Amino acid sequence: MTIAFDQRDGWIWMNGAMVEWKSATAHVMQHALHYGGSVFEGIRIYNGKIFKLREHMERLIKSAAIIGAPITDYSLNELCDAVQQSLEKNNLTDGYIRPLAWRGPEEMGIGATNCSTQIMIACWPWPKYFSGDEGITLCTSPWRKPDPTTAATQSKCAAGYVVNTLAKHDAIHRGYGDALMMDYRGYVAEISAANIFMVKNGVLSTPIPDCFLNGTTRLTIIDLAKTVGIEVVETRIMPDDLMAADEIFITGTAVEIAPITKIDETAFKIGDVTKRLIELYQKETGQA
Ligand code: PMP
Repeated sequence: MTIAFDQRDGWIWMNGAMVEWKSATAHVMQHALHYGGSVFEGIRIYNGKIFKLREHMERLIKSAAIIGAPITDYSLNELCDAVQQSLEKNNLTDGYIRPLAWRGPEEMGIGATNCSTQIMIACWPWPKYFSGDEGITLCTSPWRKPDPTTAATQSKCAAGYVVNTLAKHDAIHRGYGDALMMDYRGYVAEISAANIFMVKNGVLSTPIPDCFLNGTTRLTIIDLAKTVGIEVVETRIMPDDLMAADEIFITGTAVEIAPITKIDETAFKIGDVTKRLIELYQKETGQA
């Protein structure tokens, strides 16, 4: 049986101090717990090398500012140092890092201009998000990514994840690995916790991230593909275009690059472009 996440051993950096894992608690009257005002990051460390630490911590600061819970007590450098401290204290050289910032308990009305921003950084070993290298199946989700005027879509904000979790639950109940979400206009958007790419006639296409997260892994893959001469296009993708693809894969810090072998009833093969990019990503992250 897996251990619940509040029952693990180790240390958590919390508001500037190292706290024993089981004691790293917050009172139930945190504003964030009531109204969804928290932002987070997911970062991987491979063989002692943190992948894109600065980019992730910059995004945490940006996410917090977007939801009006600015991080003012710590600079970017201090937050990056705190991640290092957390890793050292936990003796972790391979695994996952989870920084979280949330609105504190000072106010309980919907307005929270006087709330503090609380921060914690946890880390733990987390080898693979999906087991096996055989690829992942997706089903088209009934849940859509919202219009940017109705949600803080450029913030990695907990509130935005409610539909993603519902989409993932729906996929699990239907026997698929994950959910393919369209956006509010009907364009292909993303997966519950990853971005999506398709290959057609050697060209790599990915949706324009105008109402969902522009992933760090997505940006890395675009760069890597261009470096080896693969043409990359950021464009609007309709579901029918995706279904006609030669190869499809998804990207994210946790999933890394994972090939898609089926969407609804349509099968896809794991092709050469996907395999090449997996190799390049493993090299780039220091795994190979
Ligand atoms: N979209 C969503 C909804 C995610 O949760 C993630 C994972 N953070 C991504 C995309 C991919 O982002 P990244 O590559 O920065 O991990």
